[in-house]
Amino acid sequence: AAISEEEAAKTAVAAADSGATTIFDKIISKEIPSSIVYEDDEVLAFRDISPQAPAHVLVIPKNRDGLTQLGKAEERHAEVLGRLLYAAKVVAEKEGIAEGFRVVINSGPSACQSVYHLHLHVLGGRQMNWPPG
Ligand code: IMP
Repeated sequence: AAISEEEAAKTAVAAADSGATTIFDKIISKEIPSSIVYEDDEVLAFRDISPQAPAHVLVIPKNRDGLTQLGKAEERHAEVLGRLLYAAKVVAEKEGIAEGFRVVINSGPSACQSVYHLHLHVLGGRQMNWPPG
């Protein structure tokens, strides 16, 4: 029988927590091509394959190091979390949306996280609305 979306999400969380890789590892290794906007030793930013705004870029740590989701962050991750947020601002400038943009982190199944390698969504190029869905 088909498993429910809820069960699939729980399976993805459990897999990631026990060390399973995600599609983002193949993007980091460049096994899967992506449209890279920014890259340094610790951070990679690439365009989302299913953009929800004219500009939609994902910012990820190259070394997941337990950061499957923001809700699993530990104090040792504070520095890389800061780097990711600063990279989001650099990405916004590169995309020409620095004047107005949104940064989103979905953490966990109820927030619709689908890839269990922490990532920031940088969205812009259109009027955003509040509250988000
Ligand atoms: P989440 O739902 O917050 O986990 O966001 C995952 C994001 O990754 C979604 O917006 C997807 O469209 C995006 N995504 C999944 N696979 C790829 C890919 O291969 N390249 C670029 N973006 C991807």
